Amino acid sequence: MTDYDYESLLKRAKSNLPEHTNDGERFQMPEPDLFIEGKTTVFRNFSDVAESFRRDPEAILAYLLREMGTAGSLDGRRAILKSKIGTEQVKARLKSYLTAYVLCSECGKPDSKLVKDGRVLILECEACGAHRPVKVPRAIAAAEIPALVVGNTYDVLIQDLGKKGDGIAKLDKYIIFVPGTSKGSTVKIKITNISGTSAFAQVVTE
Ligand SMILES: [Zn+2]
Repeated sequence: MTDYDYESLLKRAKSNLPEHTNDGERFQMPEPDLFIEGKTTVFRNFSDVAESFRRDPEAILAYLLREMGTAGSLDGRRAILKSKIGTEQVKARLKSYLTAYVLCSECGKPDSKLVKDGRVLILECEACGAHRPVKVPRAIAAAEIPALVVGNTYDVLIQDLGKKGDGIAKLDKYIIFVPGTSKGSTVKIKITNISGTSAFAQVVTE
């Protein structure tokens, strides 16, 4: 067998591997699309997230509301949360839910189902056949989750303009400077730097 043959066989073998593996690609949930509207938070793509989890939307919402200590309800494909909640708060809770109730701990795939075995809830993986009891995730205090993370994107309202003409948005305790924006506009931004309670961001064009 020549080297070339070996390489091409290896390539073929690799391309036949499952998409999600433990050390490779992980399941990516859709980025939660949240919008603060008055005193409520509209989770605009809630159904997309729930469908990617393949779990009952009511059960996922109940979990989120309990963990975040707020009220809320489904509204078509959206969920309405009855307080102002940051994206990172929601993401952290969705990740806990995913790890506990959806992802197989053996192969990392989300193709699983929950079955009751007496009083124990078991997660059965349809991809690799592994099963494990579900462990209720540890509650995360809001203070443990930073409101802004460098590299993440957020939808913000430019509330003001700074001395140098940069747009200014506020999120949680942070003042975010966004060059090239105008007052009153809503933009999607990516955080590039955080220093104390000041943050710097650039507009993301989709
Ligand atoms: Zn599995």
